[in-house]
Amino acid sequence: MHRFDIVIIGSGMGGLVCGDLLSREGYQVCIIEKNKQLGGCLQSFSRDKRIFESGVHYIGGLEKGQNLYRIFDYLGLMEKLHLERINEDAFDKIIIGDDPKVYSLAQGWDQFYDSLLRDFPGEEPGLKKYRDTLRGICLRFPLYNLRSGGSFAEKTEAMEVDTERFIKSCTENEKLRAVLGGNNILYAGRGNETPLYVHALIQNHYIESSWKCLNGGSQIGKFLAANIRERGGVILRNTEVKKIVGDGKEATHVTLADGNVIYAAVFISNLHPMKTLEMLEGLRIKPAYQHRLESLKNTVSSFTLNIVLKKNTVPYQSSNTYFHKEGKLWSLDEYTQDNWPLGYGVFFTPQRDNHQWAESVSIITYMHFEEVEQWGDTFNTTLYPSERTAEYQEFKKLKEEKLLDCVAERFPGIRENIEAIYSATPLSYRDYIGNDDGSLYGIAKDYREPLKTLIPPRTHVSNLFLTGQNLNLHGILGATISALSTTTAVMGNDSVVEKIRNAENA
Ligand SMILES: Cc1cc2nc3c(=O)[nH]c(=O)nc-3n(C[C@H](O)[C@H](O)[C@H](O)COP(=O)(O)OP(=O)(O)OC[C@H]3O[C@@H](n4cnc5c(N)ncnc54)[C@H](O)[C@@H]3O)c2cc1C
Repeated sequence: MHRFDIVIIGSGMGGLVCGDLLSREGYQVCIIEKNKQLGGCLQSFSRDKRIFESGVHYIGGLEKGQNLYRIFDYLGLMEKLHLERINEDAFDKIIIGDDPKVYSLAQGWDQFYDSLLRDFPGEEPGLKKYRDTLRGICLRFPLYNLRSGGSFAEKTEAMEVDTERFIKSCTENEKLRAVLGGNNILYAGRGNETPLYVHALIQNHYIESSWKCLNGGSQIGKFLAANIRERGGVILRNTEVKKIVGDGKEATHVTLADGNVIYAAVFISNLHPMKTLEMLEGLRIKPAYQHRLESLKNTVSSFTLNIVLKKNTVPYQSSNTYFHKEGKLWSLDEYTQDNWPLGYGVFFTPQRDNHQWAESVSIITYMHFEEVEQWGDTFNTTLYPSERTAEYQEFKKLKEEKLLDCVAERFPGIRENIEAIYSATPLSYRDYIGNDDGSLYGIAKDYREPLKTLIPPRTHVSNLFLTGQNLNLHGILGATISALSTTTAVMGNDSVVEKIRNAENA
């Protein structure tokens, strides 16, 4: 009977980075992925020969010396990835209600500060407070800075602050407040809920440097998978794990949808923690742990328009644009059927050989899973494909038109230059990622219960660990940092963090 050192369930960013880091340490890993394509949210797809992203519209922290650069460089990715820096004067543009002005968030803290000061003269004290507080918070998170150890107390203070309230404390100017929080779709920000550390860690890494992948974010998954295979790792696709089986406190094997069984000494789940618990068989979990996980809320799901544009009609924009209706910034998910959508994000796909014209664009807004629940028993997965009804297609069409009407007010050139639209609902994300509700970023963090919403990699099963966006933070950087903390927990020491920090080129 073959027994792997480590079985990793799911090949999302967290699972693949764990697999790469641990195979570099000599472990034989086996990654089991239910989909045909590896990568979870890293997957890119093409429609009418145009590339679309599912969950990598842009990445931060990739300039030499920055946090994600150092990890990616250690993993040999930096020399292979095809990246392009986003417009340095505006990685994000914020547009608000009927205000014709477009506000820019610039890369580099000095440029960020100076450009906002030009738009909001007299706001030095508030902008300084914003900048200094965010930078201070980022320093308190050891793995974000590739430091080992660090005490919990170091972070706690920052974890107990509400983002909306903090931004309000920086300035009385409503417009500046709306600009500073304007890209909160990035983390499904909610007023009186989203902790400031989530805003700070994400905003900071994009301010430090922002990049798009040329030819799709799926290249990250492909290169990580190649690294793992090179070191003797095994990657199974189209293979769904059904159960994690054990005897009391220790897992022994996983059973697969096809009835096969795979044994390992250690198991890492890249799935939502609740999905992981549902898979346990013969393993004891303390009821308090189970209840704690059950009580956690997920971030909202989304509705996405993936638009194929007519050739040479719509100019390419490397900046991302976020729109929100006046006064709705921190409650974009509290829409009604009448006022939906309350905001959206626009992401143009870069072309390697054409920077003048856009060939495709994705527009993302929120949608609650309840809106599509009536079609919840239909699936669009490799293993269990099923037809969705004409009513569902009609529902999508209606939503496409409504979102386009809203977008056309600020992007007049798009509607008449559409060649084709492919939309994704919460059901698409559910089927893609394998969660229950198509949640955008997994477990929602909450400043009122910061420790409860921060999930440790260890579980109550001694050899079962968690990884991915649900732990520390979501996003490419967040899931990578989660993978670092999982690797540290599996190995029982911080040596990998040390190695990354001391790597030659970093
Ligand atoms: C619409 C959208 C846009 C985003 N945009 C950005 C962005 O621009 N920049 C950014 O940094 N981040 C972005 N993100 C977030 C980022 O993509 C995710 O946080 C991150 O990729 C999640 O990684 P993960 O490790 O948690 O794995 P996931 O991507 O959640 O992958 C989990 C994997 O497990 C597999 N799986 C599930 N069940 C099973 C099973 N039973 N057996 C085997 N395999 C299974 C799934 O198929 C999947 O491959 C975006 C996310 C979304 C949804």
